Amino acid sequence: MKIRTRLTILFTLITATILLVFAAIILISAKENREKEFYTLLKKEAITKANLFFNAKVNKKILQDIYRNNRTTLNEVEVAIYTTSFQLLYHDAVDIDVVKETKPMIDKIIQKNEIQFYQNDWQVIGITYKFQGKEYIVTAAAYDGSGYIKFHNLLETCIIVFIISILFLYIAGRFFSKKAFEPIVKMTSKAKNISATNLDLRLDTNESKDEVSELATTFNKMLNRLENSFDSQKQFVSNISHELRTPLSAIITELELSTNKERNNEEYKVAILNTLQDAKKLAKLSNGLLDFAKANYDPSEIAFKQVRVDEILLDARQQVQKSNSNYNISIHFENDFEDDNQITINGNEYLLKVAFVNLFENGCKFSENNQSKVVVSLKKEEIILQFIDNGIGILEEDLKHIFKPFYRGLNKIYADGNGIGLSLTQKIIMLHKGTISVSSDKKSGTIFTVELYHGIKNTID
Ligand code: ADP
Repeated sequence: MKIRTRLTILFTLITATILLVFAAIILISAKENREKEFYTLLKKEAITKANLFFNAKVNKKILQDIYRNNRTTLNEVEVAIYTTSFQLLYHDAVDIDVVKETKPMIDKIIQKNEIQFYQNDWQVIGITYKFQGKEYIVTAAAYDGSGYIKFHNLLETCIIVFIISILFLYIAGRFFSKKAFEPIVKMTSKAKNISATNLDLRLDTNESKDEVSELATTFNKMLNRLENSFDSQKQFVSNISHELRTPLSAIITELELSTNKERNNEEYKVAILNTLQDAKKLAKLSNGLLDFAKANYDPSEIAFKQVRVDEILLDARQQVQKSNSNYNISIHFENDFEDDNQITINGNEYLLKVAFVNLFENGCKFSENNQSKVVVSLKKEEIILQFIDNGIGILEEDLKHIFKPFYRGLNKIYADGNGIGLSLTQKIIMLHKGTISVSSDKKSGTIFTVELYHGIKNTID
């Protein structure tokens, strides 16, 4: 069931219940008022007739005639007067006699002074009446015809008004819910048109700052993020294909040249070495991309354990120097550590090594002397690693871009690369809740500062 229909029914039901309670209160109070007023009238009639009988000494026959005459046109009150010993002194009409008085009834009236009750639809009242020091019992009974008619008219009016109100409320509810949901319906039909191919479409918003407009703004913000992420994904894929195409084209050209005519051994050797170099570039790129994918995993899927940063630095140095024998890397400790905890963090050994290898390699390849050093400072809360080189430095305008995937600075002509090393390194450091920053100077070289914290516990051992 649509929310609109559900809301309309709920609104109608709630209002109908309120109306019903309201009508019930009015009807109950009308019923009680009628009953009370009629008992009061009966009492007055009983006293008046007793006055006529005792004080004015009106003849019994006249009183009975008046009763019989009135009875044809009015709901005349039938009165009977008894002595306390249940002796009948006067009765309006013994032959009609609606109230069958009994001795216990008379005793009850004497005891309570006044009683009220129903006999079928007739209301009856019994009271004591004093005349010349003697007590008498007067009963009066009548049917409140006009009162009942009035009450039934009121009941009918209430039922008709109630049914009309429900119909009106349902129609009004449908109208208002339609009005209220109009912007959402519009929004839904517009949102249906948004797909991966036209992510630039946006929902309409207005100045009113209402809930629907807020929802549209939030949705548009989400679309902005999606569009950005889609664009960067597209950019990423096109960068990858470009990076793959360059060494592949080089390999193809090299192999075609060496096969289109007979070559001597030396020429073949050169061709093989060139091809090998390009194949190595490809392997490096695919390894880098694989690591990039790993660093982009959900952190809870990456295995973390207590690792020694000094050991990872040594492994990284060994790996870099093994593949580049002319590279020179040194590790310095600014302060000694008393226990292993000072050099230990909760991290992923493999990924940290990838990050350190990238920083070492960059330091060496962008320096004339192919030298890089790391200075380790052990603090209470964190370990600070400064990867320092005295190389060519990074241009001011490149500094804010170097952590973007596939970005290569203007100094790229100086050394080979694919531009994913630093973005991967930053990802890894962030995954460890650490920070990485850079400062560079054309004359003195570059310093990458990495801070890793001991107490990070939000990862899985
Ligand atoms: P790559 O080294 O493959 O080009 P990186 O992502 O590792 O890619 O680095 C991005 C860019 O940052 C490099 O192209 C280079 O311009 C600059 N860069 C990084 N490290 C250094 C460094 N130590 N000295 C000078 N430039 C650097």
